[in-house]
Amino acid sequence: MTHGGDTIFGKIIRKEIPAQIVYETDRVLAFRDINPVAPVHVLVIPKKPIESVAAAVATDAEILGELLIAAAEVARQEGLEPGGYRVVTNIGADAGQTVFHLHLHVIGGRPLLWPPG
Ligand code: 5GP
Repeated sequence: MTHGGDTIFGKIIRKEIPAQIVYETDRVLAFRDINPVAPVHVLVIPKKPIESVAAAVATDAEILGELLIAAAEVARQEGLEPGGYRVVTNIGADAGQTVFHLHLHVIGGRPLLWPPG
């Protein structure tokens, strides 16, 4: 579990460790989850190191919007649009957050149960 300014995702942003990048802008990066829970499992992150949605402030509004737009773009790219998909972000220990750099999970390619466990 990584807290604070730098995380494993910081290393991915800086290209210090490899990742299967599927989408990139100057402010957003999307790459395949190393431990996918579905045929498509992509993480969409801001390049700015915000710990979670709970740590976001008013000046982060634009980047939070960009993340959602990027998630939808990734889903289209991955062919998830006709069937549907899930975008989820875990916040804190009870939700199972393990990397403390805000990320949206884009999950799809199989039927998804609701509510999650
Ligand atoms: P969380 O549980 O914090 O919402 O999700 C963190 C996600 O990051 C997990 O699904 C985990 O598999 C993924 N992950 C952790 N380390 C790495 C890594 O080094 N590379 C990639 N691509 N994914 C990672």
